[in-house]
Amino acid sequence: MREIKFLDLKKQYLSIKNEIDNAIQDVLLSSAFAGGPFVKSFEENFAKIHGAKYCSGVNNGTSALHIAMMALGIGEEDEIIMPANTFIATPASVSLQGAKPVFVDCSEDDFNIDAELIDRAITEKTRAILPVHLYGQPAKMDRILEIAQKNDLLVIEDCAQAHLAEFEGKKVGTMGIAGCFSFYPGKNLGAYGEGGAVISNDEEFWKKIQAIKEHGSFKKYHHEYLGHNYRLEGIQGAILDVKLKYIEAWTETRRKNADLYRKYLSGVNDIILPSERKNVRHVYHLFVIRTSKRDELSSFLNGEGIQTNIHYPIPCHLQRSYGFMGYKKGDFPVSEKLSREILSLPMSEQLTEEDIVCISEKISNFFQ
Ligand SMILES: *Cc1c(COP(=O)(O)O)cnc(C)c1O
Repeated sequence: MREIKFLDLKKQYLSIKNEIDNAIQDVLLSSAFAGGPFVKSFEENFAKIHGAKYCSGVNNGTSALHIAMMALGIGEEDEIIMPANTFIATPASVSLQGAKPVFVDCSEDDFNIDAELIDRAITEKTRAILPVHLYGQPAKMDRILEIAQKNDLLVIEDCAQAHLAEFEGKKVGTMGIAGCFSFYPGKNLGAYGEGGAVISNDEEFWKKIQAIKEHGSFKKYHHEYLGHNYRLEGIQGAILDVKLKYIEAWTETRRKNADLYRKYLSGVNDIILPSERKNVRHVYHLFVIRTSKRDELSSFLNGEGIQTNIHYPIPCHLQRSYGFMGYKKGDFPVSEKLSREILSLPMSEQLTEEDIVCISEKISNFFQ
């Protein structure tokens, strides 16, 4: 039986093996393991590819979000508005500061925060809006920025799934005070371990992050702020710098693969294909379809050797860890409905047209 992995990281590695092996060797021979020149080079290149002034590499995407909250002084009195349908790291970064994540339902058209519901979630305590560009499609940033400006709120973008995505020609991560990225191995740009970054155009904010990730120090053993050890490893910096050269081409291949899925799945009436809005560049971290027979389809595909996933089976407000906030079933009907219907199909730049034809035929067979 033909097996199709959700993501084939080994195949990706083999396609750039020499460059990666050499980059790792360079780090080993220079002993620049924690922070250092390889991280600095990657930070400069990652800022440049976004047209942003500054970048700070950190140890993962959760830390990227959390350190942004720390540097902005988000604390117990504050509320941050975000979508209910996201990975748990988004609200965790706020809760870890003692602040309150305020969830908002998402729109059915793009799975992102419903911008029209943000206004009614704003209170005296609201400090920021934290949109997530889920699955690789930018949230409706025009409305979000307008609401933020009118209410004097900060905007922090969760770009963990949206490397090089664009909204009206602008790269995600550059529209608010901070863009927070994850380089978890399975992300569009992935480390061989953990990694993350914050990009910004604000020099003071960036400097504070650079300090906080080293226990609040600009100078060794002189601590200006309470901080953390959130440094990016040298090996990861060197690996990410190699992969950064390929990310544009890989992104285009993902977009082509999404077009191929649309072509080969167009005849299947029982599923809803993901929408792509006109004014965005969707980077397809995930290709998420919807069907009322989700669980049956996913076990069928599994039996046929095709790996699928669900992002995410339980919205944040219904997670046990957030039970203390008192949210209940029915609070965010769209997010809850989506969590029962969504299915992520294999997606990466390593996926071939043959793979997509095979997956599409199986899906079509299932519904016949
Ligand atoms: C992956 C992810 C994160 C967290 O990144 P890690 O590197 O896993 O800590 C945050 N937000 C979203 C939306 C993610 O997908």
